[in-house]
Amino acid sequence: MRRPTNGMVSVAQNLERIHERINAALKRADRRDAVTLVVVTKTIAADRIAEACRCGVRHFGENRVQEFKEKRPLLALPSVHWHLVGHLQTNKARQAVELFDRVDSVDSVRLAEKLAHAVGGQGSKLPVLIQVHLGEEPSKHGVAPGEVEALVKQVAELETLQVEGLMTIPPFSDDPEETRPYFRQLRALAEQIERSRIPGVSMRELSMGMTNDFEVAIEEGATQVRLGTAIFGPRPAPREPKP
Ligand SMILES: *Cc1c(COP(=O)(O)O)cnc(C)c1O
Repeated sequence: MRRPTNGMVSVAQNLERIHERINAALKRADRRDAVTLVVVTKTIAADRIAEACRCGVRHFGENRVQEFKEKRPLLALPSVHWHLVGHLQTNKARQAVELFDRVDSVDSVRLAEKLAHAVGGQGSKLPVLIQVHLGEEPSKHGVAPGEVEALVKQVAELETLQVEGLMTIPPFSDDPEETRPYFRQLRALAEQIERSRIPGVSMRELSMGMTNDFEVAIEEGATQVRLGTAIFGPRPAPREPKP
């Protein structure tokens, strides 16, 4: 294997380690199914994204429409699925539909309606996940657990969207064991909704777990983990807004 020469961590080596850790977590949980690795590429340059693609990554996530719009022309990657994993403003729904293959962060009927309208008569449905807000910290993003089922029912009515499951970003903790109850809660919520048998809805995807806690998330049933730092190393800190 080539060693990185520019001081950057090797994407190939990191991916290899991550796949080992994913497989070990699946084994611990006695799971026979697979986990989709969604490599989150915000702030990452196109050449390093292409490198991850050469290493076999087929699912990528970005959290901002504008950033991805600028990056996308630099990327000609075959058979790759782009997930929008960050908050989406309703006025960017149309652009999001043009740029992304899936939206993992739907958290309101209004947004779902805008997306459905933007998909229009394209023929294929847009796969979406419902983003759930767990924990006590106030947050503008994600629907409260008590409102998820009602939202799923409303989104299920929209013919051009396909609800495939739930997504969450739990409150951050250095200790993944503190995050475990949130992962458990998301899974229980998905199971509860599955039992309601809403026509056209499946709860097969649970997008949960990031660099700090993906192994615990897999033990609790994650089918998709979203990793950035674990693959590319630390991102530059977001710039402070000007005073
Ligand atoms: C940035 C981001 C991630 C990846 O976070 P890491 O801790 O770097 O793995 C996952 N999900 C979302 C929604 C993100 O914005």
